[in-house]
Amino acid sequence: MNLADAHQKQQKTQFDLLIVGGGMVGASLAIALKNSALNIGLIEARSLANNSQPSYDDRGIALSYGSQTIFQSMGLWPDIAPCATAIKHIHISDRGRFGVTRLSAEKQQVPALGQVLTARDLGQHLNRHLQQMTQLSLFCPAQVSSLSKLDDRIEVSLDNGQKLSAKLLVAADGRDSTIRRLVGLDAREQQYQQIAITANISTDQAHNGRAFERFTDSGPMALLPMSDNRSSLIWTVSEGQEKALLDAPDTVFLDQLQQRFGYRAGRFIQVGQRSSHPLTLMQADMPVQPRCVLIGNAAHSLHPIAGQGFNLGLRDVAVLAELLTDAGEDCGHAAILHNYQQWRQKDQDQLVRATHHLVQLFSNNISLLGHLRGAGLAALDTLPPLKNWLAQRSMGLAQTQPRLGRGIGL
Ligand SMILES: Cc1cc2nc3c(=O)[nH]c(=O)nc-3n(C[C@H](O)[C@H](O)[C@H](O)COP(=O)(O)OP(=O)(O)OC[C@H]3O[C@@H](n4cnc5c(N)ncnc54)[C@H](O)[C@@H]3O)c2cc1C
Repeated sequence: MNLADAHQKQQKTQFDLLIVGGGMVGASLAIALKNSALNIGLIEARSLANNSQPSYDDRGIALSYGSQTIFQSMGLWPDIAPCATAIKHIHISDRGRFGVTRLSAEKQQVPALGQVLTARDLGQHLNRHLQQMTQLSLFCPAQVSSLSKLDDRIEVSLDNGQKLSAKLLVAADGRDSTIRRLVGLDAREQQYQQIAITANISTDQAHNGRAFERFTDSGPMALLPMSDNRSSLIWTVSEGQEKALLDAPDTVFLDQLQQRFGYRAGRFIQVGQRSSHPLTLMQADMPVQPRCVLIGNAAHSLHPIAGQGFNLGLRDVAVLAELLTDAGEDCGHAAILHNYQQWRQKDQDQLVRATHHLVQLFSNNISLLGHLRGAGLAALDTLPPLKNWLAQRSMGLAQTQPRLGRGIGL
């Protein structure tokens, strides 16, 4: 882009669509709309230059088969694929109980149950594509400080004094969404008093594409296969237990992990940088408002127990992109937003409920529940229709697919 173009971009203040938040979800929406006729602005609080957005750390993100399909349809998958590791098997167990269930890509007749890559790698690809989009005006670093809603548009002021307007504002500014607050929307929130510790781990055995989900009395643990024979660990502990684990020398941390997890994945021999994430469930009460829609974590933020938060957000993106591409003159028209809500509400409500019940069931240490859980996992393993249902849901294939999800094999 030459200086004249850059200047012209700086001057543009009126848009069809303004996206607030250029994290995984907001960036994906902008890129999904790259072939549309829409005039788009994106406001992101952190600079894109050094990948400094808070979510782009080293934790592994499990992309469902449905998300892979959406990225494929957006033309992003060939870029992302070299950084991704296929999940071929998932092994689900309950510490101290008998029940186990196993899912396999072969049995589901798909090339992979999902793919894992670091949030940092995903962020690098998304940021690069954003910066290459000539029709996109980037306001970055910048934040929205106030907004006012009119019948035919929404107007925002940025913290650098710029004033912008758009027919539709999409809030993708994460769990603590400023837009949600400025619009005055309530959200239901559940604090789990649990902390997720994340780290990348090496084992003395090849992971061979195996992912593990293990339920323990202090919360669930997951191990996802990654590049260079590393695995991405999510270890949920009760609030207060995290400090000792974060501060422990590597050998002590690995010992404790081995005790909790067992030897199914081999012997843990190396651990990378550890970080912690407090866990809450949040769902905005009315994510669709006149001229404004909340998507991704701004609308619903899940416990990472099933690795579904971004996958759910990407399905928001796919549906919204399809409706906006076909929108005609006014992309913020109430009928379009109504269609979006109709299409998305069931999937969002179901996943929020299912994740919450799963957390409660598997965090509950009452003996009878524990035995039922064990029996349930054992029974699940012998019931192909139920197992297929679980696999379809975790692959993100059970929902009505928008155009962007109809690429490979759907
Ligand atoms: C431990 C852990 C593991 C996880 N693992 C998985 C997984 O395996 N699979 C999966 O699908 N999901 C997973 N998730 C969930 C996933 O990380 C989130 O769903 C995803 O990051 C949500 O993306 P987002 O773009 O909606 O929000 P965010 O990633 O929070 O991005 C919001 C963006 O908005 C910007 N922003 C914030 N405020 C403003 C403002 N006022 N103005 C402008 N910009 C602003 C921020 O800088 C940021 O770039 C996991 C989450 C955790 C905590």
